[in-house]
Amino acid sequence: MNVTELARQLKIPTTALKDLIPKLGFDVGRKAIKIDTRVAEQIMEKIKAQPGLLERIRRGKPIPVEITEDHPQASSTEKRILVLPQKIAVRDFADQLGMPVTDVIKQLMNNGILASLNEHIDFETASIIAEDLGYNATLNETASTLEETTVESILEKEKQGSLSARPPVIVVMGHVDHGKTKLLDAIRKTDVVAQEAGSITQHIGAYQVVYKNTPITFIDTPGHEAFTTMRSRGARVADIAILVVAADEGIKPQTEEAITIIQNSKLPFVVAINKIDKENADIERVKQQLATKDLLTEDWGGKVITAPISAKQGMGIDQLLDTILLVAELEKEEIVANRHGRAVGTIIESHIDKGEGPVATVLVQSGTLRTGNLVSIGTISGKIKNMRDYRGTEVTEAGPSMPVKILGLKSSSSVGDILQVHPDLKALKGHMKGYEEQKRIYEASLTNSLEKEDGIEKLAVILKTDTLGSQEAILQSLERLSLPDFKIAIAKKALGNVADSDIEAAEATGAIIYGFNVKTNLSVEQSAKERGVKVKLYNIIYELTDDVQQEAEKILSPEIVRTEEGRIKVLAIFRTEKNSMIIGGTVTKGRALEGAQTRVLRNQQPVGHGKLASLQAGKQSVREVVAVNDCGVQFSGKAVVKVGDILEMYTEEKRYRKLSAR
Ligand code: GDP
Repeated sequence: MNVTELARQLKIPTTALKDLIPKLGFDVGRKAIKIDTRVAEQIMEKIKAQPGLLERIRRGKPIPVEITEDHPQASSTEKRILVLPQKIAVRDFADQLGMPVTDVIKQLMNNGILASLNEHIDFETASIIAEDLGYNATLNETASTLEETTVESILEKEKQGSLSARPPVIVVMGHVDHGKTKLLDAIRKTDVVAQEAGSITQHIGAYQVVYKNTPITFIDTPGHEAFTTMRSRGARVADIAILVVAADEGIKPQTEEAITIIQNSKLPFVVAINKIDKENADIERVKQQLATKDLLTEDWGGKVITAPISAKQGMGIDQLLDTILLVAELEKEEIVANRHGRAVGTIIESHIDKGEGPVATVLVQSGTLRTGNLVSIGTISGKIKNMRDYRGTEVTEAGPSMPVKILGLKSSSSVGDILQVHPDLKALKGHMKGYEEQKRIYEASLTNSLEKEDGIEKLAVILKTDTLGSQEAILQSLERLSLPDFKIAIAKKALGNVADSDIEAAEATGAIIYGFNVKTNLSVEQSAKERGVKVKLYNIIYELTDDVQQEAEKILSPEIVRTEEGRIKVLAIFRTEKNSMIIGGTVTKGRALEGAQTRVLRNQQPVGHGKLASLQAGKQSVREVVAVNDCGVQFSGKAVVKVGDILEMYTEEKRYRKLSAR
């Protein structure tokens, strides 16, 4: 589990949780991104045992230095030491840990790092993973000095030397209808170049404006979906966030969600208090509400910057942009890139255009992307044939922070995919091969995790949602859909639209993909069809969970309900054939029933099994004879019955089981 996720569940800031964990006696390391689920459970238990603790933290009160005794399992004294070089191949790292390489790759992926078994990871990364696994990693100094002379490290240094400022990238977040789109439009109107050129601005996922001679990039997909998708895939695309809060409505659920996202990604931000033109606008109330979320604005003695605006009337937009430039200035050491290297970027928008085929917008993050470049974008590769900026103008190169639309791709990419330029075809092919291998290993590890428990039936589900909030709500409902021998196994959960990678994961795990408030596209639908993967999209949570329930009930093995019917004491054997006998006896208990399953008991031990094929009372064929009466039976089954045996009869009924969600 991610530390941030645990913090969210506990409703306390991640930093506070990181302070708290050692005080509870757990040593997971301050740098840890993930913690073992068991340890997380133990942490929660310890917190539960301290009533009022969370409330203290939420109110910012100090925590007692040592709350409980050291936890035996997580104590640092038990940690093993692992000496690692500055750089290590994933395969060798797995060897050192004594773990299967697939598990190590999975751990890396859980921490947002994609590395194939031959790729090298640095000491910092390796030590985080090692710490998660209960090791104390130390750097092998000799190995690191040797490393410094490798080509890679020289390049690294060169890169360090040639970093230059790039435009800041801004993301706009906030509650629905609070005016994100309107604000993005209002800012776009300040783009004098586009106005002068008379060109129609195109929505390609991002645009740039030049304000006071400084270019600023805005991600133009309002809503948290695209941003959280990119973030959940480890991409850091934005430098600064604008949190839009409508002055008439104040803080709403999605505002809170945006605050959580902003805080978790440690994004500097500005609060734009919008709709100040409205009669019932109340700026002070918004500030007050922010204060209750520990966001103290400047006039409340805090540091949170606010800008009152009216996106509709274009009021306060310049001041907001001034504020953005101010924050960018404060962050200038972070807002840099090397524009000379090979381009690396993140896909921020992707769709299939009727005329143009698959198109994607990439936000270049480092280096310069040029037409003719050989690129890999997630699972696809190709050559950049044509690029356009958001004004629709054809461009031949794009530097850091510049969004460009790429045309001529063979298939569609997914939001959050990484674009990488490769020097030649050989390097590109090598990369794709490595990627394929990585994917195979990852998928194999998914399948393994689904197959682990014996005797438990599972319905594998891949869940894609628009927000973390809806993901959590759905997971909670699905948790209730389980029986001792059945459960819903979540093969994968992520934010964002259903993508090719989900279809592949579903094929590998046999999972059904459920999407909530998300979409697919043509190529994904096609691929799902070809691979026989079910994709089901919903906008209402209970409809989604009801569907999961129905799917689950389809695969749930029926319950066999056995009813004991009665007993016959065998008094005579009239005829014996190979697989059938005619027997005379007395029904001593219950009833003898035509067609019933029959156990043969001798001295209370079972000696055979068969069926009561037919039944007679006197000379009449009957369906049943009750106790206490004589009867004649035709027993079908191995001819083992002797005089004095007991025939014990029972019937079985298959009952289809139901799950109850609510
Ligand atoms: P989004 O869902 O956050 O993107 O919100 P929109 O930008 O679509 O705005 C929602 C509604 O609020 C629209 O009807 C806008 O015209 C209106 N709106 C946005 N900004 C303002 C504003 O500053 N003043 C007023 N009065 N209405 C606004």
